[in-house]
Amino acid sequence: MLCALADRGQASPRFAVPLNCNRDQLPAGPPSSIIGAQPGPTRIEELFMRRYDLIIRGGTVATAADTFSADLAVKDGKVAALGLGLDGADREIDATGHFVLPGGIDTHAHIEQIASNGMLNADTFETATRSAAFGGTTSVICFACQHRGDSLKAVYEDYSARARRGAIIDYSFHLLLTDPTPTVLNEELPPLVAEGNASIKVFMTYDLMNIGDEALLDILLKARELGALVAVHAENNGMISWLGKRLVERGYTDAKYHAVSHPRASEPEAINRLIAFAELLDQPVIVYHVATGEGAAVIREARGRGVKVYGETCTQYLFLTAQDLDRPGGEGAKWVCSPPLRTTADQEALWQALALGDLQLVSSDHAPYTLDERGKYAHGHVPSFKRTANGMPGLETRLPMLFDAMVTRGRFGINKFVQWTATEPARIYGLGDRKGTLAIGADADIAIWDPSQRVTLTDDLVHDNTGYTPFAGRTITGWPTTVLRRGETIIADGECQAAAGSGAYLPRRGGEAATPSGRLSPEFDPERNFGAKLY
Ligand SMILES: [Zn+2]
Repeated sequence: MLCALADRGQASPRFAVPLNCNRDQLPAGPPSSIIGAQPGPTRIEELFMRRYDLIIRGGTVATAADTFSADLAVKDGKVAALGLGLDGADREIDATGHFVLPGGIDTHAHIEQIASNGMLNADTFETATRSAAFGGTTSVICFACQHRGDSLKAVYEDYSARARRGAIIDYSFHLLLTDPTPTVLNEELPPLVAEGNASIKVFMTYDLMNIGDEALLDILLKARELGALVAVHAENNGMISWLGKRLVERGYTDAKYHAVSHPRASEPEAINRLIAFAELLDQPVIVYHVATGEGAAVIREARGRGVKVYGETCTQYLFLTAQDLDRPGGEGAKWVCSPPLRTTADQEALWQALALGDLQLVSSDHAPYTLDERGKYAHGHVPSFKRTANGMPGLETRLPMLFDAMVTRGRFGINKFVQWTATEPARIYGLGDRKGTLAIGADADIAIWDPSQRVTLTDDLVHDNTGYTPFAGRTITGWPTTVLRRGETIIADGECQAAAGSGAYLPRRGGEAATPSGRLSPEFDPERNFGAKLY
């Protein structure tokens, strides 16, 4: 990859005279007395020489809709032109034989987050977002995570300060509610949503995080009032808690029993309940990390009758199964995440659900823990699955794993790859006006992919702080070799060139995805509820 033919601010010699343009035929510029004693370039020369900051030349550009050969020009951090034979930039990147794609958007990542058991995850904003950038991801939505008793405002300010200090890519927050008191819902939440945090995350499971049915209804109704999307971890807490105890009592504590302890039915049960609530109030929701075919089928059925429900799955549910948990010693702990990994039949069902549009996007659910007593092995080197930190790293490997499957191996192709990893995440979460595609005027967040680069994933290769990747040992083809954020090169030649704190906060409005459908349920429709005003 050729980079930086000329420094910013100095015209490259090849542009000293505009191409295809005879200097003698140019109109005269302003009198030299106006611009100083040294005659500078004419106005038209200036325009030709300095029209763009950067041209990415000769690549194959792909969006969710189209694939075409074109040069892409960047000005002031935005996509300024797509065309053939573009000229007049301070700097060029030769993308011959490469794909020029929108940078990835990962809408589900836990960064510098404290778990409900008090454990801090392995990454800082700097290490997490650096690893994301190496993998071609240029925007992330992470969490401002309230624990019970916390002020949401204080929590948000703390996460904001950490992100401002560390983030290398652009970022935004979901407001994660575990304690929706009247003060939180009525006083703290509205200004935070209005400021640009137009999504709320809730858990229907985990003993210390789950909110009951009535609190979930309170949150859905408040989100409707504020125009925020509600994102939900949907599993049945009672089934998981009950079965987990029964397994442990009988001595089944290895990592593989984690998959057993979350019965398959816990997912479709909770998704179905969530959708019933969302339909009652006509409030859009997105179901996080759908892992079973039955879960995806519940979403399909609801979408078929017009409910505004969206669905996400994650890289690990497309490429790993419960068998990965079945390792000797404590090694299976690396693959403990919730919902747990399922079967190859589920993988197939999830791909089909993506293809049908029942699920719209693939995120990482990056939840990084180190392989030591600070993380996965805080409770011994062969920990009970009940005492193993939940989650795995994935910000960096999400796009390369999917590129290999979808582009290199050809399943669904490059346009769907862009759609599921950038365009739909941007659209659903209210970033579509500036992120997720390569349109004129969009932020120049660009990943340039070498489709022929073969990479064997190893624990050493990834840049997050966990020290491992759940995909170690796989050889994949296709890698993002150069990554730009708002026109600035942040990854090139295997190096990160961006400073901690150079990522920008992305305020988001709810947008179309978060707007109620207008189809009122009988209970909330004054024409059918005997005139009761419930909104
Ligand atoms: Zn998560």
